[in-house]
Amino acid sequence: MGGAVRGAAVAELEIDLEAIAANYALLCERARPAAVAAVVKADAYGLGLAPVATRLAAAGCRRFFVARLEEGVALRRLLHEAEIFLLDGVGSGEEEVLFAHRLIPVLNHPGELELWARYARAVEQKLAAALHIDTGMNRLGFAPEIARALMPEQLEPLALRLVMSHLACAEEPEHPLNAIQRERFTLATAGFDEVPRSLAASSGIFLGAAYRFDLCRPGVALYGVNPTPGRANPMQPVVRLTAPVLQVHEITAPATVGYGATYPVRPGMRVATVPVGYADGLLRSASNRATARIAGVDVPYAGRVSMDLTSLDVSALPGEAVVPGTRVELIGGSDGVDRLAQQAGTIGYEVLTRLGRRFRRRYHGTRDPS
Ligand SMILES: *Cc1c(COP(=O)(O)O)cnc(C)c1O
Repeated sequence: MGGAVRGAAVAELEIDLEAIAANYALLCERARPAAVAAVVKADAYGLGLAPVATRLAAAGCRRFFVARLEEGVALRRLLHEAEIFLLDGVGSGEEEVLFAHRLIPVLNHPGELELWARYARAVEQKLAAALHIDTGMNRLGFAPEIARALMPEQLEPLALRLVMSHLACAEEPEHPLNAIQRERFTLATAGFDEVPRSLAASSGIFLGAAYRFDLCRPGVALYGVNPTPGRANPMQPVVRLTAPVLQVHEITAPATVGYGATYPVRPGMRVATVPVGYADGLLRSASNRATARIAGVDVPYAGRVSMDLTSLDVSALPGEAVVPGTRVELIGGSDGVDRLAQQAGTIGYEVLTRLGRRFRRRYHGTRDPS
């Protein structure tokens, strides 16, 4: 690499904030007349809470969901006006922090409701809350019959902003559980007539108008992952991951590549190595299965993904096309995240949320909400 500028020789994660804003606009259009909140938990699915949330706010988003208390506090520092829902709810001893940052807990069980109601009485104010009803995930939420049996005096200290539930199989439109959950949700929320209702996340928006209720809560679709698996991706791609070739091996005798010697090579083949590994979130399960791209040509992973490095079989390209410094696209195009996820035996959510901290990050589009 004589003379090459080291600064250019690093893996780079590009995040397109304009595409996130366009995806938000598209989801708003699909969801209409329902409103659309943005789910920005887990550091906006690994893409950076501050740039993503401020861009979404600039695009008109007023309601956000996070999971952890710390995420809510961080988001409040960024967005003073937004409604911020905390999916984790409220735990004993956390009431003051939620109150101070005007975070709205999603109450998942009667104990949380009691805790928040008691705090509301203590501060002598009605406190905003959302109520989560479990309609079939069996993960979090009030059982429907317990939600229905809530007494007015139990709810009186609270200002209910939302009743919500979550679909287990929304990315499978034909799955019978979708209609069952929708039915249970409709029944369980019948007594909360003034309170906005929310059932659909990304994929739920595409199940039809009957699933959208008053508010939709997409996360992953904002970030370019296909909410309609098996059909064309309606979302714009948001993430691109590229890395420079560090070294090219011309194979001159039968050999193998990488740990465990799992990828046999023959004379005449060429192997290129890039500085991205499982410590960067490139799943080891992608070993010998995934493909990257060089100048639009698919190049298979050769051998195991190691901690800092991954090798690629570049034999399909002419020798002069792959030299140290040549940029390889590890994630890109309209199906980039989904493709890598499928090849690694996982889902786009996991690929995104694992994207590592060692990449140089480059944001495209405005970061400033003003
Ligand atoms: C994570 C989450 C969402 C967002 O889901 P996506 O599939 O990413 O759109 C919505 N609602 C709840 C309760 C969640 O936990």
